Amino acid sequence: MSNTNRRVFIMQLAAGSSVLAATAASAQAKIEENDAQATAVGYKHDTTKVDAKKFPKHDKAQKCNNCQLYQGKATDAWGGCPLFGAKQVAGNGWCSAYAKKA
Ligand code: SF4
Repeated sequence: MSNTNRRVFIMQLAAGSSVLAATAASAQAKIEENDAQATAVGYKHDTTKVDAKKFPKHDKAQKCNNCQLYQGKATDAWGGCPLFGAKQVAGNGWCSAYAKKA
């Protein structure tokens, strides 16, 4: 393999890796409301659907996207949360571990 061919090969390999990484990120699994981890903390995709009787301190202004643990940007529809490992939570979601972002 000539130096030029090797360089082209390496560049193609790097480009391919970037595409794979982007695909993996966009395909990141989303948490299901009926997942055992989600039900354990009362997680809902929509903060307005939280059971008010079960969680009397819940406020509709509390959302994942203004929670300290949310790893997405405030404008992201979905983002990571350490509570659910590799699975994403909805920006408009909520769970009982909510902690207002400072
Ligand atoms: Fe959403 Fe925060 Fe609960 Fe994670 S800890 S699911 S970001 S409210």
